[in-house]
Amino acid sequence: MSVGKSGNVDVVVIGAGAAGLGAAKALQTAGKRFVVLEAMDRAGGRAWTDSSTFGVPVDWGCHWLHSASINPMRQYADELGIAYLDRHVPWKAAEAGGRLFSESERDALMVEFDALYRAGMSAGERGIDVPLSDVVDASSPAYGLFESSVQAEWGFMPAEVSTLDAVRYRDTDENFAVRDGYGALLLAVASGIPTELNTPVKQVILDGNGVRVVTDRGAIEADSVIVSVSTNVLSRGLIDFQPGLPDWKLAAAAAVPLGSDNKVVLQVDSRHFGIDEHCSLRIPYPGAPWFNVQVRPFGREIVSIYMGGPISAELEAAGADAAIEAGRQALIDTFGTGLAGHIGKGAASAWGLEPSILGAYGAARPGQANLRGDLAKPVEDRIFFCGEATHPYFFSTCHGAWMSGERAAAEALAILS
Ligand SMILES: Cc1cc2nc3c(=O)[nH]c(=O)nc-3n(C[C@H](O)[C@H](O)[C@H](O)COP(=O)(O)OP(=O)(O)OC[C@H]3O[C@@H](n4cnc5c(N)ncnc54)[C@H](O)[C@@H]3O)c2cc1C
Repeated sequence: MSVGKSGNVDVVVIGAGAAGLGAAKALQTAGKRFVVLEAMDRAGGRAWTDSSTFGVPVDWGCHWLHSASINPMRQYADELGIAYLDRHVPWKAAEAGGRLFSESERDALMVEFDALYRAGMSAGERGIDVPLSDVVDASSPAYGLFESSVQAEWGFMPAEVSTLDAVRYRDTDENFAVRDGYGALLLAVASGIPTELNTPVKQVILDGNGVRVVTDRGAIEADSVIVSVSTNVLSRGLIDFQPGLPDWKLAAAAAVPLGSDNKVVLQVDSRHFGIDEHCSLRIPYPGAPWFNVQVRPFGREIVSIYMGGPISAELEAAGADAAIEAGRQALIDTFGTGLAGHIGKGAASAWGLEPSILGAYGAARPGQANLRGDLAKPVEDRIFFCGEATHPYFFSTCHGAWMSGERAAAEALAILS
């Protein structure tokens, strides 16, 4: 059914990102009546493949099938015949001036990097919940690389990331790039799921018999509601729950805020890098840890520059032109002014400014990792919660979001039957 038409549904799903779509697909399979309400003018949320800006697919959000061998989205890709690169993209590092690290320099850096990483994980394994920066050696030559990895993975500085949360993330070290976009893959998997776009939910009213979900286009009565919005959306009270959400739920949302990560994409005639393969390149940026640049993804004449943590938030606040210029400048500083004439147009994401998302992905604050578990717990067996941050070990990912939606749908189905 659609909003504005009379009648009840079994379940209202709020949000058409990976989690909401995962929930909806499970409800559809179970033959239930449901409606998916989405605030934006497109489905997918943080899974968004944009093929129009550069004439080639660009993922502004998720791009990598993380933990690919145990990732259900990879299985869907196989079933649908959707192509991905089933091996690691090689990574390289360059210093200012453009000299690429030799293989032995790179390997030596990785040994130092692994030692830092292991120090963080070992504290987490012992149940210690402190900032990552408390247990790693900041004087290590690999600390900059470590900081930039933490910022890419968590969207925060090591001082703001919990050791216990970090060790809980399940990583098989298989990160496979989806050729025509992960956002497009998600929409292909979710095709046939009806979604009401441009329909932000304003209020969720719980009464004795069920829930009433209120939008500007009307209200819907349902037995239960599945809420898939980000922790920042919950924390800011952008949906008015009546009665209000319990303190423990709000505390959990505040304990796992979204960090900042963004991408700047530039058109580049990449022959001028001297790199002719699809690779992942770390380049220096003054005053910040390294930027991670995808060069020639799938042979396309673009670079995608990943920025995380404070520099991402700062450039986002300064506006797209500032972010694009920072990306351009980082490339020119590394590869020389000769590259300037070979860089074309640019564009930048601004996930923190997206009013119905407000950031990149959730990271538990040091000392509060155990509160993440409360994010997934239902309220009154009528309001069920999903979303990437609710997954116990695949948080921060698209597949984790999808699986959390399936879990929330199973919980809602249990009360319907
Ligand atoms: C830069 C970046 C890179 C990333 N890279 C990867 C990667 O390589 N691999 C990976 O697996 N993951 C990656 N991720 C993470 C992944 O994209 C997310 O974890 C996942 O897409 C989140 O899905 P979700 O459904 O939990 O949330 P969302 O995608 O945020 O979906 C929630 C939806 O709810 C809607 N909504 C909010 N409020 C309302 C309301 N009041 N009414 C109706 N609708 C509402 C929102 O508009 C949104 O569409 C990346 C994310 C970013 C930002």
